[in-house]
Amino acid sequence: MKSIKKTLVIGLGLIGGSLALALRKAGLAGTIIGCDRDQEEVDLAIQIGMIDQGSTQAEDWIAEADLIIVSVPVIAMESVMEQLKPLLRPDTIVTDVGSSKGSVLQSAVKIWGALPANFILGHPIAGSEKSGVSAALVDLYQNHKVILTPAPENNPQAVSVVSQMWQAAGAEVLTMDIERHDEVLAATSHLPHMLAFSLVDTLASQDESLEIFRYAAGGFRDFTRIAASDPVMWRDIYIANKPAVLQALTEFEQGLSRLRTAIEESDSDAMLGIFTRAKAAREHFSRILENSAYIPMQNKLINYRTAPGTALSGRIRVPGDKSVSHRSIMLGSLAEGVTHVKGFLEGEDSLATLQAFRDMGVVIEGPHQGEVTIHGVGLNGLKKPAGALYLGNSGTSMRLLAGLLAGQAFDVELTGDASLTKRPMERVAKPLREMGAVVETAEGGRPPMMIRGGQSLKGIDYKMPMASAQVKSCVLLAGLYAEGETKTTEPAPTRDHTERMLSGFGYEVVRDGATASLQGGGKLKASDIDVPSDISSAAFFMVAGSIAERSEILIEHVGMNPTRIGIVNILREMGADITLENESEVGGEPVADVRVRSADLKGIDIPQDQVPLAIDEFPVLFVAAACAEGVTRLRGAEELRVKESDRIQVMADGLLALGIECTVYEDGIDIVGGKLGGGRVHSHDDHRIAMSFAVASLRAEGEIFIEDCANVATSFPGFVELANGVGMNISVEEA
Ligand code: NAP
Repeated sequence: MKSIKKTLVIGLGLIGGSLALALRKAGLAGTIIGCDRDQEEVDLAIQIGMIDQGSTQAEDWIAEADLIIVSVPVIAMESVMEQLKPLLRPDTIVTDVGSSKGSVLQSAVKIWGALPANFILGHPIAGSEKSGVSAALVDLYQNHKVILTPAPENNPQAVSVVSQMWQAAGAEVLTMDIERHDEVLAATSHLPHMLAFSLVDTLASQDESLEIFRYAAGGFRDFTRIAASDPVMWRDIYIANKPAVLQALTEFEQGLSRLRTAIEESDSDAMLGIFTRAKAAREHFSRILENSAYIPMQNKLINYRTAPGTALSGRIRVPGDKSVSHRSIMLGSLAEGVTHVKGFLEGEDSLATLQAFRDMGVVIEGPHQGEVTIHGVGLNGLKKPAGALYLGNSGTSMRLLAGLLAGQAFDVELTGDASLTKRPMERVAKPLREMGAVVETAEGGRPPMMIRGGQSLKGIDYKMPMASAQVKSCVLLAGLYAEGETKTTEPAPTRDHTERMLSGFGYEVVRDGATASLQGGGKLKASDIDVPSDISSAAFFMVAGSIAERSEILIEHVGMNPTRIGIVNILREMGADITLENESEVGGEPVADVRVRSADLKGIDIPQDQVPLAIDEFPVLFVAAACAEGVTRLRGAEELRVKESDRIQVMADGLLALGIECTVYEDGIDIVGGKLGGGRVHSHDDHRIAMSFAVASLRAEGEIFIEDCANVATSFPGFVELANGVGMNISVEEA
């Protein structure tokens, strides 16, 4: 922006005036000259320091300006361009702020024959119902977006200057092509304004209008606020952006008439469908646009300070299992009938799955306090989503959906956030292709994944090269749509939730050792699911109840899937007093209440066959080992080094800091049980490490200060409250 010595703002209204104020404050733009049709507005602008000088005659200033901002109504743009044409220097940069861009481009082409290289079209997505110099605000653009619509013939340096100008005013600059801009704005701004104007006008013209408005509540006020906008400006916008506005209106009329029919026919499902999709979309759209999380991320630095605990007692229920939550949505959607889910984990990943099925036309009510109602559409009832399915950070959603979608009639694209975009997808794409699916991945076999519809799949006998529950599940789910038998054989046992839950939904899966197989073309029947509590979350309380003195707690309704119960087996071998009560089955998954009493633990050599069954639970098992008598040895667990943190090293560092002797190996650790002191440990942003050290505090002689615990809130919402409820002593501190 160094070369800008003089800036000319033509049109000193809300938009131009606010920009002049912001540029002045940022110390950019050199001398600022302002022109407006009204001399009084110019005088006022000089008086309040918005501009240095100005007049009603733009012609007097055009030749000397380095930067010209045209901020007049869109309908007046062409006449301003006529003024500019004879006087404009070739090196002067021109930009505008008009709310529609196609019409401004048309005017420029009419005046100059082509868009001048230094004329950059733009549109700030900020404003208000007010107009004129007195309405201008210095911070109008702070944290707002500005769309620039650079054309191929534009000079990149000029684009960069205009972009810097907006950034200096506090805005975030995006670029888009002109046609897209006009469509997007027609749908998101011009259409809502039109509806507000029309609704208020319709109601106001009724005889009893006064009466109606008297009883109008907040909803009416919020919905119609924008009907107080400047009528002339909006007339201009509708004239300027007519084609895109009419197209948006047509689509809206079609949607409205679908709703009308649903109401006329008292079609409850159709109405619920529209309203639940709209409610979810209202919450979801902003996240998609920002590519951000489903639940607000904890940006704050959170630490835990724990005091040595006392005896634990009470009944608790920990959050629902993530794997079962995902699958309850997937299978419930594909089932025939209505599936009621209780205890659904409202975590980021399972919400991504839920949204994906909503996007494919499934009516899903909730989640409300863990309850979800899914109106299943049957195996072939999914509809093509309007856009790509955005799966946030959830690898499970993407890999399982890839299988499910490979046999649909429509094309679909699967995308995710920056971190998901780095994860390998070829491991699922390869077997799907062998089944006849057409699956494209981006460079290096990474997302986005494009899955082409209308393929006929054939069952395969897949010998999995790696032990992965996601790959197995993906192939089996594709098998639902394949001709003949689909078979998977795994090299080592992995979680079998998909097989169990398919059976729970009445779909036959034959299991023979490491092999699972099913026949395509069957049906799923809706099934009510009380999602078992996550055994990985329960694990913290199993260890807590074991190591704390004089304690007894009951953890309700815990998932006891045999591929997950390593924690129970290992703790029992160490001497823990754990009993299972109320054993039952939900949706094919075994569950039980787990009673844990204090016990004197002893060190053991952890059996190799239990390692994969407890892989996520080792951080807290290390705490059990630190409280046990003798040495606990773990080997064959190299995978722990590549989890959210290097869990072997990070736990060893923390235990050493608390006075526990341990020796680290490439694939494991030896821990010598002893006395835990107090101290300061670092969780390295790893939720399981943070919760493990919180558990350790139960036997510590002093306070343990645990750094970096914000992630606990995403993986185990309510952990601190539950823990303190049974007698632990954790306080949360914001750094
Ligand atoms: P505004 O407050 O009414 O300001 C426009 C100013 O331009 C008025 O003072 C007007 O004078 C003056 N003007 C009109 N024709 C002119 C000409 N030929 N030469 C010099 N000045 C002239 O309107 P605004 O809200 O700032 O809108 C300006 C532009 O920003 C429009 O293109 C609009 O589409 C765009 N925009 C508006 C918003 C919003 O929310 N308001 C948001 C984004 C973009 P008179 O009053 O005498 O006509």
